[in-house]
Amino acid sequence: MRPLVAEIDLDALRHNYQLACRCAPHSRSVAVIKADAYGHGALECARALESLAPAFAVACIEEALTLREGGITQPIVLLEGIFTANELALVDAHGFWVAVHSQWQVDALLAARPDQPIPVWLKVDSGMHRLGFAPHEAENIWRQLKAAPSVAALHLMSHFASADALDNRCFNQQMEQIQALASALDAPLCLANSPATLAWPVAHGDWNRPGVMLYGSDPLEVANEVTQQLQPVMTLRSKIIALRELEEGEPVGYGGRWRAQRRSRIAVVACGYGDGYDRHAVDGTPVLVNGQRCPIAGKVSMDMLTVDVTDVPDAAIGSDVVLWGRAQNGEVLRVDEVARYCDTISYTLLTGVLPRAPRRYH
Ligand code: PLP
Repeated sequence: MRPLVAEIDLDALRHNYQLACRCAPHSRSVAVIKADAYGHGALECARALESLAPAFAVACIEEALTLREGGITQPIVLLEGIFTANELALVDAHGFWVAVHSQWQVDALLAARPDQPIPVWLKVDSGMHRLGFAPHEAENIWRQLKAAPSVAALHLMSHFASADALDNRCFNQQMEQIQALASALDAPLCLANSPATLAWPVAHGDWNRPGVMLYGSDPLEVANEVTQQLQPVMTLRSKIIALRELEEGEPVGYGGRWRAQRRSRIAVVACGYGDGYDRHAVDGTPVLVNGQRCPIAGKVSMDMLTVDVTDVPDAAIGSDVVLWGRAQNGEVLRVDEVARYCDTISYTLLTGVLPRAPRRYH
């Protein structure tokens, strides 16, 4: 069998979730498990968190139904809300909660006659300018929803554009907008994503919504003592499938991007962009071979990538290779670091791992 697997450490997931809860002790943490739990498997992650998390958040109704059909009984919030008015019947039948960001969704809710009133998170655009009502519109809509028999508990929700950044001007502006509105309406709040959960207690509100930190990725521009405690959940692991010696000056891979600067040993590893590994990884992107850091040498191919193992004398066919995560000797290669070499973010690497890399849970 091809040796590539994505190992998922569910204890690490629970540890990270509990860390989020400790960061925001006066807020309830809804575990964000959209996009198949950022590539980790939504149902398995929900089951692992079931006894800890009071609620889960996904993007859309299809993701919520997968969880319900898998036996998850907690409240599930649809962060993008409904996409058609017909979905409200399913929302009602399954007890989902909905975010509401557009007038047609408000109209659909006001016209609905659900068996049970539906809990609603009214989304306010406090400065990200993506989804949500402007604060001056939100006030009126809040009052309509508050009076509607179809609506149960109502919260104000907003999303931060740059809570991860050291420069907090944008964050503060968003916070001021929300606080003014919340105090005018006496509204409970749901604001904080992972960076705000970690760095901005003022934003914790009644509910917080950590996502990427649950999977062990540090969302802050600069790590702190809390983010250093995050444990990687996914280990993308493969093996060396071939080895070759190159003379100084000989190239490796498509376009011969990398050339040996000395007599070199090159390992071929079974993992490529056809598995979701980022093709933009530059020469020097680290991997762990037998737990030792080694640089990628040459362009990533569809099914394999090549690594300079000249300085790893025990590298052999079958040696363990960690693309990110934890090696057998305990050495950790953070997905955040790999993402920097690929000029991207951990979110895209984690969600990008394809089914060709089977998930193994432990
Ligand atoms: N809330 C909303 C509305 C989101 O879209 C996301 C993720 O994109 C999150 C919370 C979680 O964000 P993070 O993964 O940065 O914690």
